[in-house]
Amino acid sequence: MKKTKLLIIGSGPAGYTAAIYAARANLEPVLFEGFFSGPAGGQLMTTTDVENYPGFPDGVTGPELIDLFRKQATRFGTTLHVEDVQSVDFSQRPFIVRGKKTSYEAESVIISTGATAKRLDIPGAGDGEFWQKGVTACAVCDGAAPIFRNRPLFVIGGGDTAMEEALFLTKFGSIVYIVHRRDELRASKIMQQRALNHPKIKVLWNSVVVEVNGNEVVQEVVIENLITGEKTPMEAGGLFFAIGHIPNTAFLNQQIELHPNGYIKVFEGTRTNIPGVFAAGDVQDHVYRQAITAAGTGCMAALEAERWLAEQGMDD
Ligand SMILES: Cc1cc2nc3c(=O)[nH]c(=O)nc-3n(C[C@H](O)[C@H](O)[C@H](O)COP(=O)(O)OP(=O)(O)OC[C@H]3O[C@@H](n4cnc5c(N)ncnc54)[C@H](O)[C@@H]3O)c2cc1C
Repeated sequence: MKKTKLLIIGSGPAGYTAAIYAARANLEPVLFEGFFSGPAGGQLMTTTDVENYPGFPDGVTGPELIDLFRKQATRFGTTLHVEDVQSVDFSQRPFIVRGKKTSYEAESVIISTGATAKRLDIPGAGDGEFWQKGVTACAVCDGAAPIFRNRPLFVIGGGDTAMEEALFLTKFGSIVYIVHRRDELRASKIMQQRALNHPKIKVLWNSVVVEVNGNEVVQEVVIENLITGEKTPMEAGGLFFAIGHIPNTAFLNQQIELHPNGYIKVFEGTRTNIPGVFAAGDVQDHVYRQAITAAGTGCMAALEAERWLAEQGMDD
């Protein structure tokens, strides 16, 4: 079995940033980029323009940004495997990390496997249809785009995230509809009040979106009232899924302490409950979920892993 001082699982902004820092510290990190778990490069591979990542005043596409991260990580000597990690054994040190083809003994591990935004299977909202052409899963990332300005916007969801996203979108849309399948919201009372009292927000109760239509970009959604069965086409500039994320932790097989919502628990920076195992990016962050915060915690995890290896006398 191969050996490494530091193994990084997951290839988004968090994983590549951790690799850049660790490689520059001569730790010769190994990074599993994933394969079936999602596109190597992570969530940004599924988006077009990224306009809020510092250093790119004219914006950059998600795949271009990831390509730059990857080049920078390999320039300093990161070994990449385009492979999913299938299982880990954290019960002993060195830890065992098993990929589909390659396995390692690792003195330390950074988990940066991200989270997957939940989407609904609505005709017109899929890849190759209007996904990323007015349909998205991140209001904070995409809401300021010109196509959403002064247009009616639709948010699907009923929790705090949906309220937050709807409130955020009031800055851009002419009106924001929250489409909710029930007659009451799951969101906290305070968030509900803020959203329901906003003059630009209207809730479509007992309703679902059943179709998305447009030309180059979204122009219309069809709303079905679940009580009456009536279907109403409504003018739309955008549709935002705000129905939650699934952190990618299944392969850990309950060996790491998680929050009740499935995100990895971190203590003092990026340390998990297992000494020598760190977590960075969206897999441990259910609040900010941005490329810059993922990269920031990736940096923290690499510095903390380096310090931890030094404490164990394994830094050279
Ligand atoms: C459509 C969309 C648009 C967005 N736009 C923006 C934006 O404009 N600006 C912004 O700041 N943020 C944006 N975000 C959010 C941003 O993409 C995420 O916050 C960021 O990518 C999180 O980075 P990460 O490194 O934690 O994980 P991710 O990007 O989720 O990457 C995790 C990687 O780990 C891999 N992986 C999972 N399981 C395994 C396994 N078992 N073995 C190996 N690999 C595995 C996955 O395949 C994936 O490649 C957007 C998100 C979406 C979905």
